[in-house]
Amino acid sequence: MSAATTVDGVRAFTYAIPMTTRFRGITVREGMLVEGPAGWGEFCPFPEYDDAEAAAWFAAAHEAAHDGWPEPVRERVPVNCIVPAVGPERAQEMVRASGCATAKVKVADEPGSLAADLERVAAVRDALGPGGAVRVDANARWDVDEAVAAIRALDRAAGGLQYVEQPCPTIEDLAAVRRRVDVRIAADEAIRRADDPLAVDVTAAADVAILKVAPLGGVRRALAVAEACGLPCVVSSALETSVGLAAEIALAAALPQLDFACGLGTVALLRDDVVADPLRPVDGHLPVLRRAPEPVRRTALAADARRTQWWEARLARVSARVTA
Ligand SMILES: [Mg+2]
Repeated sequence: MSAATTVDGVRAFTYAIPMTTRFRGITVREGMLVEGPAGWGEFCPFPEYDDAEAAAWFAAAHEAAHDGWPEPVRERVPVNCIVPAVGPERAQEMVRASGCATAKVKVADEPGSLAADLERVAAVRDALGPGGAVRVDANARWDVDEAVAAIRALDRAAGGLQYVEQPCPTIEDLAAVRRRVDVRIAADEAIRRADDPLAVDVTAAADVAILKVAPLGGVRRALAVAEACGLPCVVSSALETSVGLAAEIALAAALPQLDFACGLGTVALLRDDVVADPLRPVDGHLPVLRRAPEPVRRTALAADARRTQWWEARLARVSARVTA
């Protein structure tokens, strides 16, 4: 049974949903759904994050449950399909099934993966055709020299990359890579894991900013980060269910300018969803909608007692920290 706990004056439920493909080292996505007067929010910081880092995720869930989101300025949001570290045939199937004109390909998933990355990226270009856009995400796995060599090779294999996301960990390294390659650099971890995402200066290090509502602490806070960084922004999900994804869509819908497809076609990475009608892209676009979990699914997808206890303790600690 999905027992509810009460935190911050609202009910909270813990879910555990297997992933369709291992992604970011995760095979089961876990998190909590919190209900408030404005609707449902999702609290799903990755397990290895400490309470300080999880606090922003709580703030985002709290905003969703208590305040709702700013008015959208567009009715639908273009999205990219996501291609994890799979073989070339599977990559092509995923691209074709998505209906998206932009694909984001995970690279550098493990040391020595460049040959497989090149094959995957070439296969994705083949599936998209010349009119599509290919971007890659290295999740900060390269050093500067590795990044420069890999980006040049991937750019050739892809017949042109739209951008490379977070090739190296630090702002300084991103700037060093950016000086040596012609491909646009996108900053992701460098912004959201900075001590103060509002103060970090990425103008010399990046051409594009990746924004995620959950780690930035809510839609309003992410809009402030977008304004402060002054770069074109791409909204990307944090692998939420459709409940949390709605907040990411709300940000993409509220940004004054949206030049690139967003990384929000991610519920397909989950084997199931807590809502009856998941927020899946149609013709490469997501509608600007919000979903509530369905009680029967909430129950079916409930985490076991041990994990529920772990999440409830985490939520209690983090919410105490935020509201203190
Ligand atoms: Mg990324």
